[in-house]
Amino acid sequence: MTEKKKFISEVNKLLIKQFGVPERQKPLPKPLDTLIATILSQNTNDNNSYRAYINLKSKFPKWEEVQKVNRITIEKLIRSGGLAKQKSHAIKNLISELYKRNDFKLDFILNLDNKSAINELTRFDGIGVKTASCVLLFSLDRNICPVDTHVHRTANRIGIVNKKTPDKTFYALNKTMPEGMAHSFHTNLIRLGRDICKPTKPYCSICPLIKICKYPDKNSFLVLYSKKKSFMLLDNV
Ligand code: SF4
Repeated sequence: MTEKKKFISEVNKLLIKQFGVPERQKPLPKPLDTLIATILSQNTNDNNSYRAYINLKSKFPKWEEVQKVNRITIEKLIRSGGLAKQKSHAIKNLISELYKRNDFKLDFILNLDNKSAINELTRFDGIGVKTASCVLLFSLDRNICPVDTHVHRTANRIGIVNKKTPDKTFYALNKTMPEGMAHSFHTNLIRLGRDICKPTKPYCSICPLIKICKYPDKNSFLVLYSKKKSFMLLDNV
């Protein structure tokens, strides 16, 4: 095992000690459910995007039905998730393209390797690397760690990578992701970023990684920590 893989494994072990092994849905969610839920999750919190997702899904239990309605109808249904105009464009465009291909199961990515599947998915308007990689991890069970703002910030502070953007962090991190570790690592880094390694003031004094983290500006003020777990959208689609 390379030094980088050993370091990721050590971080993963300490995070599991703190937060536990994240549960996975059984069966795994359908790829298109994850894709639409992730589009809805952009730039909002998981509770708001979940409300938007449930509104849309209860109106259209089969995604192909979205093809029959205009974009404004989608926009109204997903308003609680924010950026409704932009997201309704992305969803409407996606469904129209899938309708043309007659492929609502995303069969066209199932046999592709990770890189090719991400390339194919990111051809659609409004679908970036993070959204595409969530489909690979949460629905196809690939060993891929999506990088959102929390994963980007924490992975860089800890010293696993040294990259300026989430997409660069994604490619650097996933070059050395140990087998079978991506789901717990991704989910627990998000928990770390939300609860402890906060954007402006990390709570280093209660962090399980304090001894191995390479961040030069650790702070030492004391805080009380609540073990209450926040809601995770993609584990509930
Ligand atoms: S020690 Fe501080 S900077 Fe490092 S991961 Fe923990 S909270 Fe973040």
